[in-house]
Amino acid sequence: MPTLFKDLASFYDELEAVSSHLKLREILVRFFKRLSASEVKITAYLTLGTIGPHYEKTELGIAEKMAIRAVCSACDVSKEKATKLLKQQGDLGGVAESLGGRGKNQLTIQQVYHTFLAVRDASGGGSQDKKIQLLTGILKSASPAEAKYIIRIALGKLRLGVADKSLLDAFAIAFTGSIDNKEMIEDSYNVCTDIGGLGEALAKKGIKATRQFDIALGRPVQSMLAQRVNEVPEILEKIPGEIAAEEKYDGERMQIHKDGARLIAFSRRLENISAQYPEIIEAARKSIKAKTTVLDGEVVAVKNGKIMPFQLLMQRRRKYNIEEYRVKIPTVIFLFDILYLNGESLLKRSYPERKKLLASTIRDSERVKLAGGVTSARIDVIQAFFEKSVKRGLEGIIAKSTGPESLYKPGKRGWAWIKWKKEYAQGMRETFDLAVVGSYAGKGSRKGRFGALLCAAYNKQNAQFETFTKVGSGFTEKDFVQLKKALHPLEARTKPKLVRIEKTMLPDTYYEPGLVIEVLGAEITDSPNHAAAKDVLKTGLALRFPRFIRIRKDKGPTDATTVKEIIALHKKKYKKPAR
Ligand code: ATP
Repeated sequence: MPTLFKDLASFYDELEAVSSHLKLREILVRFFKRLSASEVKITAYLTLGTIGPHYEKTELGIAEKMAIRAVCSACDVSKEKATKLLKQQGDLGGVAESLGGRGKNQLTIQQVYHTFLAVRDASGGGSQDKKIQLLTGILKSASPAEAKYIIRIALGKLRLGVADKSLLDAFAIAFTGSIDNKEMIEDSYNVCTDIGGLGEALAKKGIKATRQFDIALGRPVQSMLAQRVNEVPEILEKIPGEIAAEEKYDGERMQIHKDGARLIAFSRRLENISAQYPEIIEAARKSIKAKTTVLDGEVVAVKNGKIMPFQLLMQRRRKYNIEEYRVKIPTVIFLFDILYLNGESLLKRSYPERKKLLASTIRDSERVKLAGGVTSARIDVIQAFFEKSVKRGLEGIIAKSTGPESLYKPGKRGWAWIKWKKEYAQGMRETFDLAVVGSYAGKGSRKGRFGALLCAAYNKQNAQFETFTKVGSGFTEKDFVQLKKALHPLEARTKPKLVRIEKTMLPDTYYEPGLVIEVLGAEITDSPNHAAAKDVLKTGLALRFPRFIRIRKDKGPTDATTVKEIIALHKKKYKKPAR
């Protein structure tokens, strides 16, 4: 018997009502266990408020105005009435519920999901009307509670407080019988990055399914990440033997998949960004000698042979005027890794092996280059290379292990890669990438704007965002405009479930964690006012003298600096010397 959408709606009601992490998991486990494998796949996407993996097109293309039209014709009410209710309630899902659907609870999960796919795929002339018609049709068959969730999903505003991580944990219990398997499952997710596909495979085969995932063309893996140290000699402690030191470019991470004539560029957030960088795709087509391959690198903006700042590159992340900006802000990709070559996964090959294959796969050209570097076991050589890189205007270096264990580990921030930046070298302050979760209204000259942003670090253990600092300085006029635009769609009426805030810090406006900003700070101190690390240490941790640096469009909220990293920095840097 196919599962009915009404059961999914009751499951969502249950999830909405709980705040405890464990209780949430229990509810997830119970529901997922009763589903067929194909329903597990669909339900995983829907529960995260989406209709597919990140790397596929998941936007339905339904604006709120279009959804209002669908609600009005499904419920037979005037636009004025619906708009008035929306103003009062602030949630069109709630409005659809209160206007009452007339369906008889016959809809199945599959039916609703396939309607969403049809809405997404409606394109060309008259596509808006087609989308509205499809949505109206399904709303007519929906009960009030079902209509609420259909609208929220269609608008990308489901927000149940369920993170990818919570689902993976639930899969471990539901399909492999033990939470102890969660790391194996997480590793598979870092490779396949399709939560629905992974859930379906686990439901069918249990833990054995984790063995079936390897890198595949057209499906990005999570990027491997780098650790940080406080002093250069520490690099030698962590990477004994030969070190491959490479230039560190401050741009945007890019994973290129080539499958014959088909080339796709993926961002660090796993989105398909090929359309935004047509010159890289064209150049890669000529420079790559292999028939099939997956390459990892960093795209930077370059003018007159000089590498330009990250902010300039971010202007290339646009939907419109791509041709104009392609000329205005040309780019170059520096490749530093190869993960797949002519039918073979290279994830389990050592770095020196991969590097050799990379060099033989690429023809250096104006827009496609190999990352520069030196290999040595001597600290003075590494230090000299670092200084030379900084002089060239680069951010610093990435020191990479060359030992037999130097495999490519998707999604891992391990000691095989260590970053060393000029800011660290100058004993300057640290930067943190934090999720904006709230704002305080401005006063005086800041009236009508925010006075400060409440920012959170990511706690990977419980998949929550814990506040760490309140940033009130460093904003230019342009920043205010850009931040307002980026934060508006994330506004939430009440505290988002994944966010932890102390009572003393409640903001005027809440935001769903979605926007990441880079913040410079002077010192990490104990603080009862912040939630970061509170469940590990007795007190919370706070960043003092924070200053806004830039928006990080290239990072999603779960890419924010983790609480674990903050605890490590706090221990090392600010521990008082023993007397
Ligand atoms: P940061 O904010 O310090 O750039 P991050 O959090 O964006 O760091 P990290 O993994 O901590 O990411 O730093 C490594 C990043 O540096 C990589 O994600 C990649 O985008 C970039 N990078 C630039 N040059 C290289 C290189 N030669 N090898 C690996 N990564 C590089």
